[in-house]
Amino acid sequence: MAKNDQNNDLMEKIVSLTKRRGFIFPSSEIYGGFGSSYDYGPIGAELKNNVKQAWWDEMTKFQDNIVGLNSAVLMSPKVWEASGHLTEGFADMLAECKKCKRRFREDHIEEGKCPECGSELSEGRKFNLMMKTFIGSVEDKAATAYLRAETCQGIFINFENVRESMRMKIPFGIAQIGKAFRNEITPGNFTYRTREFDQMEMQFFVHPDEADKWFDYWKDERLKWYLGLGIKKENIRIREQKKDELAHYAKKAVDIEYRFPFGWQEIEGIHNRGDWDLSNHSKHSGKDLSYADEKTGKKFIPYVIETSAGADRSTLTFLINAYEEISGGRTTTTESIKEKEVVLRLNKKLSPVKVAILPLSKKEELAKKTRETFDLIKVKFESQYDETGSIGKRYRRHDEIGTPYCVTVDFETLEDNAVTVRDRDTMKQERIKIKELTEYLSKKLSQ
Ligand code: ATP
Repeated sequence: MAKNDQNNDLMEKIVSLTKRRGFIFPSSEIYGGFGSSYDYGPIGAELKNNVKQAWWDEMTKFQDNIVGLNSAVLMSPKVWEASGHLTEGFADMLAECKKCKRRFREDHIEEGKCPECGSELSEGRKFNLMMKTFIGSVEDKAATAYLRAETCQGIFINFENVRESMRMKIPFGIAQIGKAFRNEITPGNFTYRTREFDQMEMQFFVHPDEADKWFDYWKDERLKWYLGLGIKKENIRIREQKKDELAHYAKKAVDIEYRFPFGWQEIEGIHNRGDWDLSNHSKHSGKDLSYADEKTGKKFIPYVIETSAGADRSTLTFLINAYEEISGGRTTTTESIKEKEVVLRLNKKLSPVKVAILPLSKKEELAKKTRETFDLIKVKFESQYDETGSIGKRYRRHDEIGTPYCVTVDFETLEDNAVTVRDRDTMKQERIKIKELTEYLSKKLSQ
């Protein structure tokens, strides 16, 4: 198979697995779908939450000088004037096909020809990506507002509130996870680019003389985060943005890129935004957002080093990275011999279900013991009670969603009060006493 076909094939397999196993569904499907909107199913919601939690822990809990924030999606339109979104920035240059009238981002076009029909394209024109909405019950009198296009503006406008209330001293950071909306012209590649997505951003406020140092620090830290959660080294890289790619506010920027089946693409940006944000908000709001050095008393406008990731893009990245197909099957049950088996080798921290509790058969005598075991485990770990289908089928179902441990309750359990624990990756099985099960799993899951 040619490499391209293999890659398309992999995306199709991911889309199909995620639908089949309750990770991601096309939105509004019963109405024929709604352009590039997706819903996370029960398993996907857990996975995405785990991605967000891993980020939140790393960026707030494990740091001494970073605090969290949860700001509103709707803000005063003055925020977007000050940030430049309504005036100079945040507009993509779009070129229109003279024949089929489709529009494309100029920076995505290689040869000046329409990628759909090959005809000539017009000169690029600016198209603002902000999504408008109306506030007020009478539409023609209502005020125009915007759905935020990035979460960081909520952080900048709360710089003083957070600094004062939390007694923060520079250098310090503010982290936030939340929805952002962009009227993307070319959404696509599944959840890679959508019009509604979750950002995970951290703005680190520093003295201008220390900006380069912190930029390098966060670049390394963020790369480590992905590697620590199992992203394969050969599929992730850092790419420095060239001068002509830099956003109007950026002094320096790198992208963390992942080798998707559709090519190397950005998953996170690290930017030195200089004093653009705080000085513009100072100017537009009339509120002095400068910072007084504790020792010298000298005032300065802090520089911002930003780490800006997407929860949906990261979730997709972790899914693709974990996907493994084993042809010929790896289980020894007859039904699976020669079939392809899928294992999602997710980092255990990210696995949507940590433990599956499986009675060997549906027989009444096993149900009570299995339920007791489930009740014991479910308060500690995200668990599923699963009794449908043969044991082989159930193992495979859990391999496909990346469940690290399957616990089987069998007839011997009634005698010895022990269960069989199967490891997703090694497929090794161990007999463990029920009274030691919680401790055993805790240990295994934290490894
Ligand atoms: P791109 O060049 O892909 O449009 P960007 O450089 O505009 O991305 P940023 O504004 O730096 O993106 O946003 C930071 C992060 O937010 C991105 O690295 C990505 O993970 C996420 N993100 C941005 N736009 C989208 C989108 N339309 N859909 C999903 N995630 C997105």
